[in-house]
Amino acid sequence: MTETVMRPQPQDGSRPLPRDAVMQIHAYVAGEAKIPGVNRIIKLSSNEGAFGPPPAAQAAYAKVAADLHRYPDGGSVGLRKALGARWGLDPERIVCGTGSDELISLICHVYGGPGADILMSAHGFTMYDIAGTFSGARVIKVPEQNVTTDVSAMLAAVTPETRIVFVAHPNNPTGTLLPQSEVDRLRAGLRPDILLVLDSAYAEYVEAADYDAGQKLVDAGENTVMLRTFSKVFGLGGMRVGWGYMPASVADALNRVRGVFNVNLAAQAAAVAALEEPGWVEKCRAHNTEWRAKLAASLEAVGIKVWPSEGNFLLTDFATAEKAKGADAFLKSRGIIVRGMAAYSLPHCLRITVGTAEECGLVTDALSAFMKG
Ligand SMILES: *Cc1c(COP(=O)(O)O)cnc(C)c1O
Repeated sequence: MTETVMRPQPQDGSRPLPRDAVMQIHAYVAGEAKIPGVNRIIKLSSNEGAFGPPPAAQAAYAKVAADLHRYPDGGSVGLRKALGARWGLDPERIVCGTGSDELISLICHVYGGPGADILMSAHGFTMYDIAGTFSGARVIKVPEQNVTTDVSAMLAAVTPETRIVFVAHPNNPTGTLLPQSEVDRLRAGLRPDILLVLDSAYAEYVEAADYDAGQKLVDAGENTVMLRTFSKVFGLGGMRVGWGYMPASVADALNRVRGVFNVNLAAQAAAVAALEEPGWVEKCRAHNTEWRAKLAASLEAVGIKVWPSEGNFLLTDFATAEKAKGADAFLKSRGIIVRGMAAYSLPHCLRITVGTAEECGLVTDALSAFMKG
């Protein structure tokens, strides 16, 4: 894992200088994908979904190859219509992006910026920090309870300058989920001019009975946004498609500044087809629920603490950074890549994606060998 180094900037006019905010940012470290000298890699570092891209999405992707000279539909009209039909949402209030990462960034620039405060939880998704800082805002990381967003602490951290509160719902990398009553309490306790962003990248995996991915609060007012993605359950991380459902006024603002053709032609085609794949989400959710529980139980059986997760991944706790590093190295020696958590201030933890049954078995075997030896 590489850390961004703060470099002193020359003040002598010898070269162009980035804004100070840019140099405060630690570049995002993506999940690793390769181990030198290892042929078969088990990649469980990026929560990509256990089953690859839906077959219908692959076919749609191949089919548009002859049309690549055409600009995409700049408004992602067909995709927004399909999303609206699938979840019963008004397509006019959906905005699509180059991954939900782009929407996070746009929201920070549109509602944050110099002088603004942006709140996130201590172990929240790093993109909020990167995009918020880039916008010029101050990003405040609020302490958590049991690696879960602490609504009381969040409300106490609000300042007159607070403009945006980000909550990943459930959170990545911790996997933890706030009960709906706590989400409601958060919204009710925030001033109406503060935008609450519920980032529900893992919505399709959630089993909690009271779960609402954000739709309810979006519809209840003018100050909540729900973000979703095709990168997790729909297996299209490489295509970069995300979307948000939001109040009309927020959609209007984002549409003024987003890339005019932000979602490319192949991505739109693949995403629409992914939505049409029969039974896909149900199959993936059922697999994930079964294997998330089995994987957690077998890791706990060999003495690894596992935090409760509603996502397609587990936050595993090795108590010390040294032990987590050792486990990471041991897994790598067997061709298994998981995610180190130092960048999330959880150096004693590893995040492990719930893969196929075989992959779950291989991780379990490796970690039990590690814990015994
Ligand atoms: C993966 C992830 C995203 C980003 O997804 P993209 O659509 O691929 O940009 C956003 N938020 C959370 C919490 C995630 O885990």
